[in-house]
Amino acid sequence: MRVHLTATAAAAVRRGHPWVYRDGITGGGGSAGPPGERRRGERSPRGGGAAAAASGDVVELSAEGAFLGRGLWDADSAIAVRVFQRAQAPALDERAIAERLERAFALRDGWFAGRDTTAYRLCNGEGDRVPSLVIDRYDRVAVLRLDGGMLAPWLDRLLPHLARALGACGVRSIGLRARAPSASGDAEGKEGKEGKKLAHLHGPPLPDRLFVRETGVAMEVDLARGQKTGAFLDQRDNRARVRALAAGRGRVLNLFSYAGGFSVAAALGGAGRVTSVDSAPAAHASAQRTFRENGVDPAAHDFVTADAFDFLEKARGRGDRYDLVICDPPSFAPSERAKPRALGAYRRLHTAVARVLDRGGVLCAASCSSHITMEDFLATLDDATLERDDLRVRAIHGQPEDHPTLPAWWEGRYLKFVVLE
Ligand code: SAH
Repeated sequence: MRVHLTATAAAAVRRGHPWVYRDGITGGGGSAGPPGERRRGERSPRGGGAAAAASGDVVELSAEGAFLGRGLWDADSAIAVRVFQRAQAPALDERAIAERLERAFALRDGWFAGRDTTAYRLCNGEGDRVPSLVIDRYDRVAVLRLDGGMLAPWLDRLLPHLARALGACGVRSIGLRARAPSASGDAEGKEGKEGKKLAHLHGPPLPDRLFVRETGVAMEVDLARGQKTGAFLDQRDNRARVRALAAGRGRVLNLFSYAGGFSVAAALGGAGRVTSVDSAPAAHASAQRTFRENGVDPAAHDFVTADAFDFLEKARGRGDRYDLVICDPPSFAPSERAKPRALGAYRRLHTAVARVLDRGGVLCAASCSSHITMEDFLATLDDATLERDDLRVRAIHGQPEDHPTLPAWWEGRYLKFVVLE
């Protein structure tokens, strides 16, 4: 089946952008691609072409009569097509997808060799040129997440290839964490409605939780009830940075601490007392097990179940001051529309954080929304917002190499981690 694109959508595809929004399609020609690509004979000819396609169907993209590439159709998402091929490659089938996955896995073997890290992203969807498919590795377990609905019909055919390639890397069990199709265009973000159960796809039963290692640090991952696929692997390098920054810091505050990744990093780095604040009590239970596993007594630190804004208000009232503050909230801007309100929320948060940051202290501020650009985010950390003029931007970091993006896919570059001192 052939799909004709508007000039704007075609230009984006030529640049390598992997998404075609529904309004980038001018009409379906209905002319078939190579016979091998037709998987659904029952498709109604009514309306022709795209109007009759089902999620998972291979579509051929064209503009002004020229072939642009091939992608998979999504009948329900605002992203109508995710683009897999731009060249006149042989058919887009499970073998072609499996080859890309094997390449992605092989790269990780090299990147993580000798790093004492057993949890990382094996495939970052669009960024690894396998649109919509995210695979996170937690030691012997791999957890899949599908964005949108186009790969679900492929899963049965892909699974034997996946099981073989993952097995060769030492993965024994494969699970699937369902995610509601999102029209937000945000590649990540932390507040998605992902409380969905983890489905077992292959191998021995999935443990509810397990310990993995990250840059030499033990970390509990709650596969059954955790957020995302279990952990926020994108902050791995930033956790190691916090570990280095924590030496000699008496009081550390970790806001939105989740399973305590930054907290244990700070404690192991030599911080005196680490206060973790999160609204979810289960996250603290997990954090405390992680502390123990690393030989750190959780009783020597504080775990506060509270709203971060309320906590900051009260801490200021008590006159509490911290030498290092890490602030990694959930995505405040899941869509472009939410951006003005999100910027206001970041500003309010950063003002409140600056009031409890001691002179000479370090502030690590993170944002995980692709709609907030680096300049947008820095504007929420300026002197007027922080009500002080003693801080400088010491470093700016983003996501690690196992979360690769494409030059044209700005939506994939969501993580910002700014160190002010
Ligand atoms: N920094 C963490 C990830 C943070 S995810 C890591 O490196 O792993 C965001 C966390 O913020 C979640 O655990 C969620 O429970 C918590 N949260 C969301 N809204 C909150 C609020 N208003 N106050 C405190 N915690 C909140």
